[in-house]
Amino acid sequence: MKNIPKWVVKTMRIENFSCNECNKSLKEKDVIAVGVRNSHKDRKYESFFIEIMCSKCDEIIILELKDMSLVDLSLEILSEQSEIEIRREERGEMEESNVNKKRVKTKSKITQKEIKEVSKFLKSIDSHDDFLISLGMTPEEIDEYKFKPDNTDI
Ligand SMILES: [Zn+2]
Repeated sequence: MKNIPKWVVKTMRIENFSCNECNKSLKEKDVIAVGVRNSHKDRKYESFFIEIMCSKCDEIIILELKDMSLVDLSLEILSEQSEIEIRREERGEMEESNVNKKRVKTKSKITQKEIKEVSKFLKSIDSHDDFLISLGMTPEEIDEYKFKPDNTDI
């Protein structure tokens, strides 16, 4: 299962649960479901559970971790999601899954005003070289990177 809440992964690492049948240690990659259900200890209560399939004997193990309602779980996941997004934004990263290397589109943070300013600026410059110079390149560097040094086309 992908995107298991971080605190679940952490709990699993700390508790180091093992299979009832074969005693194999259960890892977060063995988790097949997380959710909220009526507690089997007392059906008046709801608790958070993780369902794990043992990678050795295929035994299904359901662990009730703590009392938690569906609303609590949703809030927990939402707050974790927004934390992740904030951290990604801070690092300037885009969402990327390890399995699927395809870039996930994120909302552009460029405002209409910035687009207008850039477009105005682009119209004000005469050549590609001027553009590169305005980005901070020196004319020498531009010459160095030019594919065809005597190509005068812009
Ligand atoms: Zn097992």
